[in-house]
Amino acid sequence: MEEYLRRVAAYREHVHRLVTGQLSADLAAVTARLAADLAAARTPGMVRAAARRAAAALRGLRPDIARLLAAAVPEGVRVGASGAHVDPSQALADPALRDAIRTAAMLVRRHAARTAASLTALPLATPAQQRAVAARIGSVMATLDAIVDLAVGLAVWHGARQAARTRHVELVWVAKRGCCPRCARLAGTVTVDGEFPGGAVPGRVHQHCRCVGVEEEDGLAARLAGTAAADIAAGHTAASTPQRVAAIRDLLAHRRDLTARTRIAAAVTVHILTRPRTPAGSPTG
Ligand SMILES: [Zn+2]
Repeated sequence: MEEYLRRVAAYREHVHRLVTGQLSADLAAVTARLAADLAAARTPGMVRAAARRAAAALRGLRPDIARLLAAAVPEGVRVGASGAHVDPSQALADPALRDAIRTAAMLVRRHAARTAASLTALPLATPAQQRAVAARIGSVMATLDAIVDLAVGLAVWHGARQAARTRHVELVWVAKRGCCPRCARLAGTVTVDGEFPGGAVPGRVHQHCRCVGVEEEDGLAARLAGTAAADIAAGHTAASTPQRVAAIRDLLAHRRDLTARTRIAAAVTVHILTRPRTPAGSPTG
């Protein structure tokens, strides 16, 4: 499993570099040029000219996001399939994946056009205003990163699912330790006829979900489910306190297979997380 997760992580890294690398460098260049032009501007006319130049550079960007992402899908399917013979065209026909690819391309085009339009309308007089504009130019990267993560997750999932069918095995949900309660609850669950509980898809539970499905072997599912239950019970999930408490209560209500140790840990954690806070400085005891 570790080797499989490493290959998925390497593929993810590769696609991020491929798809977002050039755009990120281009946006950084526009921002740097704008900053230099503004630093040299001595008159309001020169400031306006700098903004116009930056807007033109943004409008001239032609990142081929859709083609790059689509081209990266077959490799993701192969990584997901881990040696089994698979057909990447099934993944490319998936509406969710096509939608992610289209959305990524549209997002970048729209962002460039909108930012270009706003550049000439925004005041660029103070350093704070100039920093705000620079932040706006780069702001598309976080959203694009999330969509790339989704496309990567779906491509890998298609490969894993096809391979599992070919090999007549089921898949186990693998979540990162300390992930959100929703993914932690899915950890260790097993597919039935290729579907996880509730139709959940690894990589698609929320933005930046990095869960994957791996082939069940040697009690892997039970081990992962046990670890995830212990993490939830101890409050080791990425969520607010009320969400962590809700996850623990849900665990106690719905999981019959919990060990006594996990149940005790859950009760203690709920007690700690829900006890009223003593106001700082007030006498205790
Ligand atoms: Zn997840």
